[in-house]
Amino acid sequence: MPAADAPLSPSTFLKTHNIKGFLAEDEGERLSELAASVSEIGPCLEIGSYCGKSTVYLGAACGAKGNTLYAVDHHQGSEEHQLGEEYHDADLFDSANHCMNSFPAFRQTIRLAGLDHCVVPIVASSALVLQKWQTPLGMVFIDGGHSHESAMADCVGWAKHIASGGILAVHDIFPSPEDGGQGPYLGFEKVFESGLFEKLAQVNSLGILRKK
Ligand code: SAH
Ligand code: MG
Repeated sequence: MPAADAPLSPSTFLKTHNIKGFLAEDEGERLSELAASVSEIGPCLEIGSYCGKSTVYLGAACGAKGNTLYAVDHHQGSEEHQLGEEYHDADLFDSANHCMNSFPAFRQTIRLAGLDHCVVPIVASSALVLQKWQTPLGMVFIDGGHSHESAMADCVGWAKHIASGGILAVHDIFPSPEDGGQGPYLGFEKVFESGLFEKLAQVNSLGILRKK
């Protein structure tokens, strides 16, 4: 039996606290494994935290290894989260400012999960953070804007900052258009075509590359 004060596993924590998000359990567990495996290479960074689901999987692994996770999201939602769109969530709408704001929910998730010591929230667009980024990264997880333009810019832009042996994981990889939007898939394949990465097995919709 685990000790009474043993921390919950990420999957159990997320279920117990009913954390909102868009990530399957098998994908999250793979993210944890990958993040744990790169702790000697460099810090981890994610694009698209939303309410912190992927952040908990990545952050728990980073925390256990003494590594850091940079969690980048402008917290204003993607196209599909806006008022009237398919994935709009009224609980995350800031009516005073008439905009989406997932940051309070994200902060609460990270605090409840006990990850404040290893997660650095960056409330800004991916493009802005990318402009001056210098630190070589052990792992990048991309799950931000899904338009062709955004996903391509994220994949190509962030891949350049991954250190040798490091991981690029991209969510929502659907090789067939019938299964989902093509933005993340095209961005992922573009990085693979550079010849600088090898492909690891895909888990559900999580595509994975390792830098040679
Ligand atoms: N990874 C999350 C789901 C992310 S949803 C989970 O596990 O549940 C996509 C998120 O990307 C949204 O929160 C949105 O605000 C953010 N996003 C979209 N475009 C972005 C951009 N250009 N820069 C930063 N964040 C962006
Ligand atoms: Mg996604």
